Amino acid sequence: MNFNPQQINKKNIIGFTEDDLNEYFISIGEKSYRTKQVLTWIHKRNVHIINEMSDISFQLREKLNEDFYIKIPQPQSKFSSKDGTIKFLFNVGHNQVIESVFIPEETRNTLCISSQVGCAMDCSFCATGRQGFSRNLTSDEIIGQLMAVSKEIGLSEAITNVVFMGMGEPLTNMHSVVKATSIMMSDLMYGISRRKITISTSGVVPNIYKLSQLTNASLAISLHSADNKIRDQLVPINKSYNIQLLTDACWAYAEATNARYITFEYVMLNGVNDSIEDAESLARLLKHKPAKVNLIPFNSFKNNPYECSDRPTIELFCKLLQSRGIFTTIRKTRGSDIDAACGQLAGKVNDKIKHPLSKRLQ
Ligand code: SAH
Ligand code: SF4
Repeated sequence: MNFNPQQINKKNIIGFTEDDLNEYFISIGEKSYRTKQVLTWIHKRNVHIINEMSDISFQLREKLNEDFYIKIPQPQSKFSSKDGTIKFLFNVGHNQVIESVFIPEETRNTLCISSQVGCAMDCSFCATGRQGFSRNLTSDEIIGQLMAVSKEIGLSEAITNVVFMGMGEPLTNMHSVVKATSIMMSDLMYGISRRKITISTSGVVPNIYKLSQLTNASLAISLHSADNKIRDQLVPINKSYNIQLLTDACWAYAEATNARYITFEYVMLNGVNDSIEDAESLARLLKHKPAKVNLIPFNSFKNNPYECSDRPTIELFCKLLQSRGIFTTIRKTRGSDIDAACGQLAGKVNDKIKHPLSKRLQ
């Protein structure tokens, strides 16, 4: 990264990692302890005006003001579900909107965040995929969701877990996702444990290997079928990176990051992937592997060809996996009355570009 002030425009400093800021301070001949001072002001003391950072000299504050600004996004609107879930909409310019969802539970508070405006992966059961892709979010737009939601909900309900399960495919926006993850994990900033940050991917296999070199966050895979023919239809990137290649990458990720398990998400679609044979082949695929399965009841949205499996089918599927020794849970549906449940996030996206690897068979 080049910090020559002649060459850069002002940047929103909230998207800077410890390393980024160290590099900046070194480039202007300052000591690296400045990083700790500045980041503590912004992320721990919630001081968002550079001139109020009282232990920083006037001269250095002037310099920081020349190179940076501090801007926390303001939610454009918010919707509260009767189950306590709150959905926040953020305008990211050009009349486009992304969504973040706050999910309070007894023992934790999870924030589901977006990594892109729309998504190019075109999964056939996902509202975000329907919209196509507009652009990647920057690291400040990603961490900004956490900062803005924390501010809105108040400190007593601090966010304990973060999942990259909002709009977008995080592994096609690695640079900013990894930076945001590093800010979340940093003890100078949010100090969220790596096990409580989950990056979910549809299966961009080469980037799973790359990710393992850049972070040790938890990994979740949108699997949805253990059969390549079915998965090709549901998650089009499977045609480029099949289940064998995907699971190889998962085990390599678990080993490289010393993860206890990889989570496999499996959306339950009536008559598509919810039979006993489907459960048996999933159990065969994951047996004796560091894997757990999270079954997601399908959340419906307008004009889609699918329906959710019925409850007894989901429970039977779950029991069968458990009886084969696979740790399996059923995801509680949260916020469906405000269209905040998995796969319902539609925000507002202007462009319609599909990922070149995801030519869906119609
Ligand atoms: N793009 C990433 C993360 C966002 S999607 C990914 O696909 O992993 C978060 C999760 O919601 C994924 O497991 C996705 O497959 C699932 N999902 C998408 N649409 C859904 C729907 N309509 N109902 C239930 N889950 C859905
Ligand atoms: Fe994109 Fe994930 Fe939706 Fe697929 S499921 S279209 S990868 S957001």
